[in-house]
Order: sequence, then C-alpha cells, then structure tokens
Amino acid sequence: MKWSWQIGRIAGIDLKVHSTFMLILIWVGFSALLSGGNLTAALTNVLLILALFMCVVMHEFGHALTARIFGIKTRDITLLPIGGVARLEEMPEDPLEELLVAAAGPAVNVVISAALFSALLITGYFSQPLNLSMLTGNIWMQLLAANITLVFFNLIPAFPMDGGRVLRAILASGMDYVKATNLAANVGRGFAVLMGIAGFFLNPWLIATALFVWSGAGAEARTVQIKRDLNGLTARDALISKFYQVEANQSLESLFQLAMQTGQSHFPVVSNGVYLGIISRNDLMKTMDRLGSRSPAYAAISGEPGNISPETPLKDVMMKFGTNRTLPVVENRQLLGLVTPESVQHLIWYNKRMGNTRPRPPRENINPLLD
Ligand SMILES: [Zn+2]
Repeated sequence: MKWSWQIGRIAGIDLKVHSTFMLILIWVGFSALLSGGNLTAALTNVLLILALFMCVVMHEFGHALTARIFGIKTRDITLLPIGGVARLEEMPEDPLEELLVAAAGPAVNVVISAALFSALLITGYFSQPLNLSMLTGNIWMQLLAANITLVFFNLIPAFPMDGGRVLRAILASGMDYVKATNLAANVGRGFAVLMGIAGFFLNPWLIATALFVWSGAGAEARTVQIKRDLNGLTARDALISKFYQVEANQSLESLFQLAMQTGQSHFPVVSNGVYLGIISRNDLMKTMDRLGSRSPAYAAISGEPGNISPETPLKDVMMKFGTNRTLPVVENRQLLGLVTPESVQHLIWYNKRMGNTRPRPPRENINPLLD
C-alpha cells in the first residue's frame, strides 16, 4: 500500500502503518486538549487508541495465522484509521476454511474481551454500584467496550468485513461460489447504504467505513468473477501475436518514429531471433535524453524484463501487472508474444461470446519484424 511505513515484522509478516493513521493520533490528542482536558487526559486518549489498535493488530494476526494453517501466506498487515487490513495472498475457496479464517479475527477480540472482563471482575471494578460513568472512567473498561464493539462490528454481514466472508462461506456451501459472492456483495452494498445514511446523523467515521464497504464489496465480486473466467487459461491463450519488435542495433530515433506511427507503447528487442528485453516508452525517452537519439535500441532495455512462460496461469499473470503492464512471453529465449491487461480482457470477452476458448494464434503469424 502506498504511503505506509513498516514498523516491524512479527511471525514473518511485515507490520505497516499508513501515514493517515498518524492523523488519528494527533486528532485524538488535540480533541482532548481542546475540550478542556489537560496533557494527561490527552496522553491517556492517545494511549487508549494505541492499545485499541494493538487489539486490531492481534485480530489481523488471528486471520493471518489461521490462513497459514491452510498454506496461505500473508503479504503484510497495515494499520489504517478505519482499522487493520491483512493482505492474504488469496482467500481459501473451500467454504469451511474461509469460515475459519474469517471468524478467527473476531474470535481474538472475544478472547481479549474475556480476559479484560475477568481482570476487571477480579479487581472488584464491577462490585461498585453500576452507573454510566463507569464506561468512561477506566481505560481497561473502555478497552473492553471497544473490543466488544469490534466483535459485533466485524460480524455485520457486509463485504469486505469478516461477517461478509462468513456469510459468503455459508452461502457457498450450498450454491455456486460466484453466485454466493455476488449475493454476499449485494448484502454488503445494502449495509453500506444504511451505514452511510446513519453516518450523516451519528458519526462521520461511519461514512468513511460505508465507502470502504461499498468499494470492497464490488472489488471482491469482480476478483472472484475474473478468477472464474480465467480458470484453466494460460498466458499462451491471451497472447498478442501481431506487434512490432526491433533489432538490438537499430537507432532509438527510428524506434521513436515507429512508436509514433504505430501507437505501440512497448517494444521487444531481439538480436538474431534471440529475445533480449523490452523497451517501454519511458525507457525510450530517458535513454534518448541521456545518450542521444543515435544510440542503439539495446541501450534502452530496462533492467526488469518480467518475462513469463507461455504456461503461466493467467490468474498469476494478473498478479504481475503492477508497474509493468506489458509482459513478454518467452520460451527458449524466443519471444512468443506479449500479454497485457487488455489482451486478457479481450480473451474473457471472446470466451463469453463464443462459448469456447479462442483458438491459439498460428506460429507463423507471430512477430512481424520492422523492415
Ligand atoms: Zn477481521
């Protein structure tokens, strides 16, 4: 995630804090000062928020470590003002496994709540006459209330919150996975609308959460649909076979002209039929500025080729479209073609309309060279 700093590494998982999280600490501290509190009150509030987010981190580790049991790795855990996010490499598609991974987070807060409740009980906190000011008087009591809120909030059946995943898992045990996801996503959108409306009257924080839930529901439904559409397909199926490639010793100026004539943004470089690397528009500009327009094309090849094999599953290819949006497909040092997000999208559209997989391009069509 952009704008986040790593603050540690626990059980092999990077723990990060988003920069906006700092805003919440400053806001909590200042609002205590402004409402007439002294420095101690401000520090207590900041401490309470830090303790609360510690509980959120433990919640996320509940998900991550349960997922690990099923062989799923977690990329990182990031703290945001609206809570924590554990980025699991994938969600288990087995409904029971997903149910366990999703429920493990809130279960951690149940355990923390039970521990806090017992501690308060033993120290005799509840033996005093009960009144409302008890809720705000003691930092441990506040932490207990917050943990109980976390449990209930997370169990609201709205994607991408844990309750939404629990709902999908339950639905998916009795119906098609994609249908179950769409249904759960729509329930999530419904809750987002209710949350947004409630936010106008109660707390603006709810509006932010509603937006998060709305976009999360849509993203989950799209991801699951794309995964289904790409099932069993490989890079070879989405290959772009008609494009221009350039010889290693061709000048950058002629490459620039070719880019203008064709609109192509990435050019593979070959030498005697052997694939050397790819030049992006950015690399082309930078190298022309640095070395002049007469320099050979190979000087502009970027360091990170990101080659993929034709047998790479398209599901994995989609994960590789980061900064590189044109990936060369290479076999035995021979360039077979290019794969882009657009070529994958074309394949999905084709398969939907024609009801079968696009015939693979014949070998002789591949690689028209610039003459
Ligand atoms: Zn959770």
